[in-house]
Amino acid sequence: MPIKCGNGKNGCNWRGIIENWEDHASRCGYASVSCPNKCNTEAILRNTLNGHLNECPMREFICVWCMKIGTFTHITSEHEQVCLLKRVGCPQPGCRKVMERKLINDHIASNCKYSVVPCKYDSIGCCVKKRRIEISDHEAKDGEHLSLALATVQQLQQDVSALKNDTFTFKLTKYYALKQRSHSWIEDHTYRCGYNVYISVYPNGYNEATNHYLSVYIDVEEPPRSSLLQWPFKGTVTVEILNQMSNHSHYKRSVESFVPRSSHPEIAAEFVHLICHSSVEAPSRGGCQYLLGDTLYFRVTVLSASTKPWLECSSTLDTTNTETN
Ligand SMILES: [Zn+2]
Ligand SMILES: [Zn+2]
Ligand SMILES: [Zn+2]
Ligand SMILES: [Zn+2]
Ligand SMILES: [Zn+2]
Repeated sequence: MPIKCGNGKNGCNWRGIIENWEDHASRCGYASVSCPNKCNTEAILRNTLNGHLNECPMREFICVWCMKIGTFTHITSEHEQVCLLKRVGCPQPGCRKVMERKLINDHIASNCKYSVVPCKYDSIGCCVKKRRIEISDHEAKDGEHLSLALATVQQLQQDVSALKNDTFTFKLTKYYALKQRSHSWIEDHTYRCGYNVYISVYPNGYNEATNHYLSVYIDVEEPPRSSLLQWPFKGTVTVEILNQMSNHSHYKRSVESFVPRSSHPEIAAEFVHLICHSSVEAPSRGGCQYLLGDTLYFRVTVLSASTKPWLECSSTLDTTNTETN
């Protein structure tokens, strides 16, 4: 008695005897089979399986850019979005360059003519940003940038002159011998604050201070013409006699005005009648003694107030002398 194949609904026309059924069933082209790649596609018939395997979304697939192996679905979607060797276009509007994805970031940062970059003078205050293709035209505008550069230089000069507070210390020996003979003693000239400053000490005093006071002669000389320093000197020179016992109670006088001599306009000098002899020579009192072993220590602080005013910035310097002990 002949029987029909149970896959008749799929199109199988097989009819035969029951003894041959098992053999047919194992080869029937209309039998439903599942994909060996486990792709979950339904209703695959045995005679369409080969066709399916050529299109199966889970079939093995090799990336044409980097040769990575994966499933067709993964390689052509997720992987292709990130494949470093895939050639892609620069995303900057206007740029048509195509290159391997791994080169794009470098290209945008350093080469792409359409990247927006800051003007190379941004460190001196130019805030302009333009596409790389346009920035060199802007950077070539000297006028705008020179005024920024000038402002920067002026600020630096101001900062430098604010730092021109300089101190030097020297000692005078043989105080009594100098005083007795009314001789002066000249400290080697020392370049300070850009100015030459000479200090002469008259232990027995000068002019009306003779026999009463120790006098100091402060001599400031004009700096070279090329210097930005102002002449006449504007600033303060402070002379101290140092307490040799400990670091306090130093005796201090400041001179804030220096007028060039009419006969030698390159020199501005002032006398200071600094301290009376009895105070200099007093023995140690309250931890304070200036003269020790016939020696005095002097400290000179030069505070320059300004550079040439027409090159100065609008903000003014604080020229107040700092208080020291
Ligand atoms: Zn069949
Ligand atoms: Zn499949
Ligand atoms: Zn790839
Ligand atoms: Zn580009
Ligand atoms: Zn600029």
